[in-house]
Amino acid sequence: MNTELTKGFVDFIDDNRLQSLIHDTKEDPAVYREILKKSLSKQPLTVEETAALLAVESPEGLNEIFETARELKRSVYGNRIVLFAPLYIGNYCTNDCQYCGFRRSLRTTVRHTLSDEELVKEVKSLEDEGHKRLILVYGEHAKYTPEFIAHTVKLTYGTKSGNGEIRRVNINAAPLDIEGYKTVKAAGIGTFQVFQETYHKETYAKYHPHNTQKSNYLWRLNAMDRAFEGGIDDMGIGALFGLYDWRFEVLGLVSHAIHLQKTYGVGPHTISFPRIQPANGLDLNLPYAVSDKDFKKLVAILRLAVPYTGLIMTARESKAIRDEVMEFGVSQIDAGTKLEIGGYNKEREGVEQSIEEEQFQVGDTRSLDEVIRWLLTRDYIPSFCTACYRVGRTGEHFMEFAIPGFIKRFCTRNALLTLAEYLEDYSSDLTKEEGYKLIDRELAKMPEGDEKKSLMERLGKIRNDGTRDILY
Ligand code: SAM
Ligand code: SF4
Repeated sequence: MNTELTKGFVDFIDDNRLQSLIHDTKEDPAVYREILKKSLSKQPLTVEETAALLAVESPEGLNEIFETARELKRSVYGNRIVLFAPLYIGNYCTNDCQYCGFRRSLRTTVRHTLSDEELVKEVKSLEDEGHKRLILVYGEHAKYTPEFIAHTVKLTYGTKSGNGEIRRVNINAAPLDIEGYKTVKAAGIGTFQVFQETYHKETYAKYHPHNTQKSNYLWRLNAMDRAFEGGIDDMGIGALFGLYDWRFEVLGLVSHAIHLQKTYGVGPHTISFPRIQPANGLDLNLPYAVSDKDFKKLVAILRLAVPYTGLIMTARESKAIRDEVMEFGVSQIDAGTKLEIGGYNKEREGVEQSIEEEQFQVGDTRSLDEVIRWLLTRDYIPSFCTACYRVGRTGEHFMEFAIPGFIKRFCTRNALLTLAEYLEDYSSDLTKEEGYKLIDRELAKMPEGDEKKSLMERLGKIRNDGTRDILY
C-alpha cells in the first residue's frame, strides 16, 4: 500500500465491530418492530439498528420488513422510476480486479477507447432511443485523466440529435484526487460514483492484487471525501455483492452513508448494489454469491436504513428479479443497456455484439421501449426528469423530501412531462397507448386546481405544438 496516499485518511470501517454485530445480534420482534416504526418516520437507521434487521430470519419478520420497505418507498418516492443508460468510454485498465472482464491480465479482452467521432455516434444512438440521462464509465488508466473525462462529458452534452439531448451526465470512474474532481465538476457532471467493491479489508486485498493502483483500500474508501472537497456533493457509493458476506457489505454501506452525512452534512445521493455477473475469462468460485432471496432482503433493508438515498438496480439483474425487487425501494434503473465499447451504434447498424469487449454479461437485455412499457403496465411512471439540477434547485435531493408537497409539485409533474416527450418522439405505438393511459390515470388522481390545469396545458403543448423541455 502506498502510505503517501493514505496519510491523513479516515478509516470509518471497523471490521471487528461489524463482524460482531452480524454474529451477536439475534432476531427480536420487539426490537425490530420499533426499528421499522423509526424507518417509517423517515429517520435513517444506525449501524446497530441495521444489524438488528439483518438478523431477522423468520418468515413473518421478513414479511414485515418487505411490507415496511414497500410502504416507505411509496411515501418517499411515489411511483416514479428514473431511467438512464451506461455508456462505456474505454476499457483500458491497469488494475487486475479478479472479477472484472477489463482486468489487465486478461489478454483476450479487446481494448478500445471511443474516439470523439465514435462518442458522438454513441450519444446520438442513445438520444435516438429516447435517453436523457447517461452514466459514462471508464477503466482505470493513464489515458483517462480528469481532463479527458471532462472532455468526454462536454462532448456528450454538446451532442444533439433531432429533439434529443443528454441532460445529465454521471460518472463511474477510478477515484480521483481533489484537483481531478474539480476538473470534472467544472464540466457539469451530476453524480460521481465509486464503488468500494468490498468493505472487508482482507477480502479487498484478495481481489485487488497489491501491485495495482486499486489495491489501496483507504484511497478508495475516501474517494467521496475528496470528491466533496473538490466541490462534488452528489456522491454515489456501492458494493459489489458476492465477494464477501452480504450482511457485512450492507453494514459497510450504511457506515459509509453515516460517515458522509456526519462529516459533510450530505449523505450519498445513490447506493448501487451490483451482484457479480459472469464475465469474459471469469472463472470465479464465489463462496459468498448472494441468493435471490437474500438479494431481495438486502434491498429492502437498505431502503429502510437510508430513506433519503436513491437506490440503483442495474441491468446486471434479470427481468424477473427486477420485477420482484423494484417495489422494495429501487428508484433508478438502466434500460436498453449495451456494455460493449461502441455497442449502441453497433446495435443501430445491426452489427453483432462481442463478449470480448464487455465488462460482464447483462441480465436484462430488453430495449428502452420494452422496459418503459413494462413499467407503465406495472403503474410506475418512467421518468427522465433532470429539472432540479438544471434550474439550480441545489441540494435537490434534500428538498425533494424535506419540503412537504415537493414531489407532487415538481417530481410527479416533471416525470409526466418527460414521459410525454418520450411518447411523442420515440415510443412504439403500443407504448404510446399505455403511456397516455398512465398519464390519464395520474391526472385523475390530482385535485382540480391551478397545478393540474398548468400541467394539462404543458402536456398539450408537448403533444400538439412540439414544445420540449418545459419543466417545473
Ligand atoms: N474502473 C473503475 C472502477 O473500477 O472503479 C470504474 C468502472 S468499473 C467498469 C464499474 C464497476 O463495475 C466496478 O466498480 C465493479 O463494481 C463493477 N463490476 C466489475 N466486474 C463486474 C462483474 N463481473 N459483474 C458485475 N459488476 C462488475
Ligand atoms: Fe479496471 Fe474497474 Fe474492471 Fe477493476 S473493476 S479491472 S479497475 S475496469
